[in-house]
Amino acid sequence: MSEQQIRQEMLRFAQLCYKRNLLVAMDGNLSALLPDGDVLCTKAGCHKGMLTDADLVVIDRKGSKVRGDGDPTSEMAMHLACYNARPDVTAVVHAHPPISVAFTVAGVSMARCVLPEVVLTLGTIPTLDYRTTGTEDLASIVGRHIQSYDAVLMDRHGAVCVGRGLLEAFCRLETMEHTALITKTARDMGQVQELPASEATHLRSMGLKRYGGPPSAVAKADAPGADLPPACLGCSGCANPSPTGIGPSTTGSRLDLRMARVSTGPLMTLEEAMTKAGRHIAAPSPAPSTPLEDTIVAEVLQALKDA
Ligand SMILES: [Zn+2]
Repeated sequence: MSEQQIRQEMLRFAQLCYKRNLLVAMDGNLSALLPDGDVLCTKAGCHKGMLTDADLVVIDRKGSKVRGDGDPTSEMAMHLACYNARPDVTAVVHAHPPISVAFTVAGVSMARCVLPEVVLTLGTIPTLDYRTTGTEDLASIVGRHIQSYDAVLMDRHGAVCVGRGLLEAFCRLETMEHTALITKTARDMGQVQELPASEATHLRSMGLKRYGGPPSAVAKADAPGADLPPACLGCSGCANPSPTGIGPSTTGSRLDLRMARVSTGPLMTLEEAMTKAGRHIAAPSPAPSTPLEDTIVAEVLQALKDA
């Protein structure tokens, strides 16, 4: 791809990040390797939804500006750490996808084997320990984990996704946020059922062979558990999906807040459903509770009688 084509792609994917609500205002930054080995990146303080060619600058692999107006993004060290960690990576997209970031704010892990397509293409999505934005410390922790993952979350900050080109890096970011939305919606409905550990391993092994991934992960494609973390394979959620929510030990914690679950089983009274969902706040009534449907039928009969 020529520099001209890469510049056009960068404008397109930056604008798509904004349109898909993966970043707002001056958030986020994108970079891509140019044919001569230098790095094209977005400059500091530009709006990705209104990005123009004048907002792109070229730097060398040490971070010094080669061409363009303005300063490169302050997160450039993080991008360079990704390129240094992985010779196969030619593009990096950093954004603040809101639902994914909310998982880190809430302290809920996205390193779970929930959706087959995600296990195939990304494996699990780790959350890195908190580090101050723009620091070498953050760059170093990101670079270290990008050796093993194509998409990572930075605690209370955002996502870093890499790829063989901007399209692949962008797709990984979009997949991460879509996964977060589905997982959050399932949690709101009452529970997240993970894939059985054997199926997760089978899918991951197949995905690494079919779609590739970090070279260190591809090397483990045939190993027991592939590149999935031991915590994922050992969690009670994987081996025995928990009816009470994500992970094995949420009871009594702040993660236990759930809406009443929609059930196909025998109808519960409203009180029973609320109690089961942990939302029961009223003192128990001394009178025996009347099933909700009986109450409604009685009210309708009374209304007909009154009419
Ligand atoms: Zn950021």
